[in-house]
Amino acid sequence: MKIDTVSVDFTDEQKRYLEGFTTGLQISRVGRGLGGGSGKANAEPVGPDAVHIKAQDKVIASGKKLADQEKVKRDEHPFDAYPRLRQQALDNTPPSPADNFRWRYYGIFYVAPTQDSYMCRLRIPNGIMKHWQLSGLADLADELCGPYSHVTTRANLQLREIPPKHAIRMIEGIQELGLCSRGSGADNIRNVTGTPTAGIDPQEIIDTRPYAREWHYHILNDRSLYGLPRKFNVAFDGAGRIAVLEETNDIAFTAYEVKDGFGVEPGVWFRLGLGGITGHKDFAKYSGIIVKPEQATAVADAIVRVFIEHGDRTNRNKARLKYVLDAMGHDGFLKLVEERLKTPFTRVPEEAFAPRPAADRMAHIGVHKQKQDGLNWIGVSLTLGKLTSDQMRGLAKVAQDLGDGEIRLTVWQNLLISGVRDANVELAIAAIKQIGLAVEASHIRAGLIACTGNAGCRFAASNTKRNAAEIGDWCEPRVAMDKPVNIHLTGCHHSCAQHYISDIGLIGARVPINEEDTVEGYHLFTGGGFGPDADVGQEVYHDLKAEDAPKTVEALLKAYLANRASPDETFL
Ligand code: SF4
Repeated sequence: MKIDTVSVDFTDEQKRYLEGFTTGLQISRVGRGLGGGSGKANAEPVGPDAVHIKAQDKVIASGKKLADQEKVKRDEHPFDAYPRLRQQALDNTPPSPADNFRWRYYGIFYVAPTQDSYMCRLRIPNGIMKHWQLSGLADLADELCGPYSHVTTRANLQLREIPPKHAIRMIEGIQELGLCSRGSGADNIRNVTGTPTAGIDPQEIIDTRPYAREWHYHILNDRSLYGLPRKFNVAFDGAGRIAVLEETNDIAFTAYEVKDGFGVEPGVWFRLGLGGITGHKDFAKYSGIIVKPEQATAVADAIVRVFIEHGDRTNRNKARLKYVLDAMGHDGFLKLVEERLKTPFTRVPEEAFAPRPAADRMAHIGVHKQKQDGLNWIGVSLTLGKLTSDQMRGLAKVAQDLGDGEIRLTVWQNLLISGVRDANVELAIAAIKQIGLAVEASHIRAGLIACTGNAGCRFAASNTKRNAAEIGDWCEPRVAMDKPVNIHLTGCHHSCAQHYISDIGLIGARVPINEEDTVEGYHLFTGGGFGPDADVGQEVYHDLKAEDAPKTVEALLKAYLANRASPDETFL
């Protein structure tokens, strides 16, 4: 087919695409990159991957070196390599390092040398799933991997110990349940978090579910939104009783009532925050920009696309959105977003925002009244996010029989059963207890959070989950905490458990015990916070041995209780 025989008036870019299409060269060049990650462009890239290839071309043209992960993405787009993943599963072979990065686009991570198996991370928009999805995952866990799951700090689920031969069956089994794991790892937009009590919370000012779902499906179905310079987080907070930690995300949509008299339509808007990344000690920064809820997807899309063009593809440590904002300034960045949106942002002064209802640091545990008469949510306490497959099936049955059929995960590594009638609350609690779980937790246990740690993550310096359990077991009977306290243990600088924002935060470290040997341990921080108390913790102990952590935390808690000026004083 010759281009000049086509009667349609194509743009130059469309014509180039058709030329490449005819010869079969254009598609392979775009789909498979330029060869070796260092080749030179000989034609303008087109198609959904073109934005990324152009950004990489710019780096190459400037004489800089692409980061290794960028070369992997450029050599072969992960979504073009599914047949090879299938073959590796048939052969039961582990992936090469490059493929291990690629397969994260499908949500599976080969975690050797810690375990000779994959971990699979799902996507669950707004953290809400159906009972049959949870029981279906329990069946998959029994059949294909370790018979358990972990609730993550992004209100998500992870399954572990998946042998290579089961990788495809796991990915496809999850999809058959109406869930997916696509884009939950590597340089992609991660699970979309939202208020876990959306639609049932008496104090919420907006139901975040439609917005979280719209964004979820928007990114899921647009290949050009995969393969960013680095991972990217988006969260929606509807002002419910359970915090979402949206200010720790690259994009925070925080619902506010905007008052009358400020030149905009009064009512509920999302206030826009940008650049949160607490592992790098930064919260999202809010200017006066407000976004109509129905515009959230378009605004987030434009922000991501500016990030795609300007994110650093040479240095992984400086590749997150925060560094683009630092380099060009928030105003410079926002100007580019406005140009892309073809409309200026709406801005209001601080006084335009009505006060928000406060979150309750214990609302994720126990029985709480919903906005619907006669209905309740029950927050189930999990031991550091872990659920056995039997417990998954048991909770699914409680949700089906006694709740509204939904299970709601929270960023606090636990879950809620919603829609439980007053008359069924005690029965539901008894059923939950029968499967070895509780609906109560002490002020210490409710805020005890730990990342995977060195039992399953090669980056970890310490066994965070075990050490967190030891801290809880030691402190709970010894310290009568009369208010919630957050104690977060994270295994490395990636800070999946957000140690900087907790009252007491510990980051894994190898602690020297003599000139040659080290043991597991931590650096310990205090005084972090989130929401209205957002603050980055300060280091108070360097090189604390793990075995000393429980007594040290006990001493800190007791010192706080003894020395605070009033019960309202935060933990400093
Ligand atoms: Fe692994 Fe580090 Fe994340 Fe912990 S914080 S799960 S050690 S990457």
